[in-house]
Amino acid sequence: MANPKSLELIEKLISFDTTSRESNLDLIAFVQSYLSDLNIDSTLVHNNEGTKANLYATLGDPEKSGVMLSGHTDVVPVDGQNWDTDPFHVSQSDSRLYGRGTSDMKSFIAIALAMLPEFQARGLDTPLHLAFSYDEEIGCIGVRRMIEMINTLPVKPAMAVIGEPTNMQVIIGHKGKRSFNVTVRGLEAHSSLAPSGVNAIEYAAEFIAFVKSMARRMQKDGPFDELYDVTHTTLQTGVISGGTALNIVPKECTFQFEFRFIDSDDPDAIEAEIRDYAIQVLEPMMHVVDTDTGIDIERVNNMPSLDLGADEEVVTFVKALAGRNDHAKVAFGTEAGLFQKRAGIPAVVCGPGDIQQAHKPNEFIEISQIEECEGFMRRLMDRICLS
Ligand SMILES: [Zn+2]
Repeated sequence: MANPKSLELIEKLISFDTTSRESNLDLIAFVQSYLSDLNIDSTLVHNNEGTKANLYATLGDPEKSGVMLSGHTDVVPVDGQNWDTDPFHVSQSDSRLYGRGTSDMKSFIAIALAMLPEFQARGLDTPLHLAFSYDEEIGCIGVRRMIEMINTLPVKPAMAVIGEPTNMQVIIGHKGKRSFNVTVRGLEAHSSLAPSGVNAIEYAAEFIAFVKSMARRMQKDGPFDELYDVTHTTLQTGVISGGTALNIVPKECTFQFEFRFIDSDDPDAIEAEIRDYAIQVLEPMMHVVDTDTGIDIERVNNMPSLDLGADEEVVTFVKALAGRNDHAKVAFGTEAGLFQKRAGIPAVVCGPGDIQQAHKPNEFIEISQIEECEGFMRRLMDRICLS
């Protein structure tokens, strides 16, 4: 039987529409007052506009480093999705709870909150930290500020569990990602005088073909990580636009590309190879016709990869909590890579629910997953509580 308090809090958290474009402050205020009723202080780290906040709290001795439970409070939009029920109102049917964020990932947060009185009653030997972020779904934006704050703390958490939906499987790695907007600035001309213009689309095409050639090389030569379904770094172009008419040499072409890298690849080296090609090969040819032309590459997102050794202490610890011995790596990015690479906090991804249900209409979580997560929390108590 799932803890009624977990179910009550899941219902409550789902009722806040925290789609990333909306404020999450109502949800944060609710969590803050719930914590304060338990005599737990929390710190908020706001965005610039003051419309969203991360929440960080510690139970137990703040002089000791402890175990951090972390999750994002925002959800993806329901626009254009065909839901059978109100996505912001939990409805139960058979063994499932339906609602936006049930799997990704408000249930984990709710279960952690519901168990706090038990942690307190048993007394904390090792502290428990809570870290709840905003704007994860639009590129892990919010958590970066919380990490800056955590990096100023005299004592940082020793490890983290990121409760993204993994069916309580222990995830020790995910790929990193960098994405880019590119603008090729050419020179317009009548198409009959093509050599006197700089064809932005054609230079974009050469750029994109170069990115594709790198993708082929990495697919063929690696490096490889067999724990991934797609075992190597990938690169691809996803959006392109340019030109006005066939008889005009196009002045501008814009496109977006990304690469998703495994930990043994160096993202700086990949990015440098691409930029060098633009600067050293393409731009000199463009400048022969007009020195005002060029290629602007703007990096829009930079997500570090996560990579933990299968025999690291934190992995063994989380496996014991999850009651399983296996581990895996996943294709989707999480905040875990940022905690590992930017804060030096080893972070394992393990949470209730299934990523297959995330971001879709009629998102749900199996109640058995909630029960499994509660078991995880109780085994955590056995490890870090006094009694
Ligand atoms: Zn998520």
